[in-house]
Amino acid sequence: MVKISKFKNHPLISEVKIVENRNNFPISWLNKQGYCEYSLFLENFKKIDIAPTKEMIKGQQEHASLESKFKEDAEPATFKDMMEISKETEIFSREFYVLSVKYGIRGLIDEIWMTPDEFIIIDDKPATIPYYSNINQVYGYCLAFKDMINDDRTIKAALRERGTDNIYWIDQFDNRAEKFIIDLIDHMHKLIIGEEPFKPTRNSNKCRKCRFINFCEFRL
Ligand code: SF4
Repeated sequence: MVKISKFKNHPLISEVKIVENRNNFPISWLNKQGYCEYSLFLENFKKIDIAPTKEMIKGQQEHASLESKFKEDAEPATFKDMMEISKETEIFSREFYVLSVKYGIRGLIDEIWMTPDEFIIIDDKPATIPYYSNINQVYGYCLAFKDMINDDRTIKAALRERGTDNIYWIDQFDNRAEKFIIDLIDHMHKLIIGEEPFKPTRNSNKCRKCRFINFCEFRL
């Protein structure tokens, strides 16, 4: 694994790092891209600084509370240990850091279940509708995780209602899903280097809830 101290800052975009000479963006951008690509441009390229919404703050608080609850009973283990132990028994981990130099992505998986047969990668969300933007994000985690391991256990992607045990969407991260997300990540890298334009949404419902609405020339 590349040490974080080896990351270089991108000259223009603070959330993009340069890892082994390749741009590397946060996997959470795949979610934002699915909502509206142009909001990514306003936030990161035009650097419009808007306070987080109430929902975002609530999400961060719930996240922190789940994390501290988990830490009360958690036993620290290395990645290598976890991979070995999970061949025999089920274990789980929270806030699991993934980095793929090859695909230029990185992020924190909310929760991962490792069993002798499969890995289940879970992203917690406030709603119970499997929006494709959320699915793309969890596929991004699956891809980065797959790139880090040398193991042929099945990988599944799952969405769970935050603060509950309700997994409301789960699917195998198969070849079709892998190809789809690799293509989307390639597109994201083209946006970053200016080879493709950021497209605004055509859905006025999204604009109405968008925190950049007052700064966006494409708002509907
Ligand atoms: S106002 Fe609409 S088009 Fe503009 S960034 Fe927000 S969601 Fe996208």
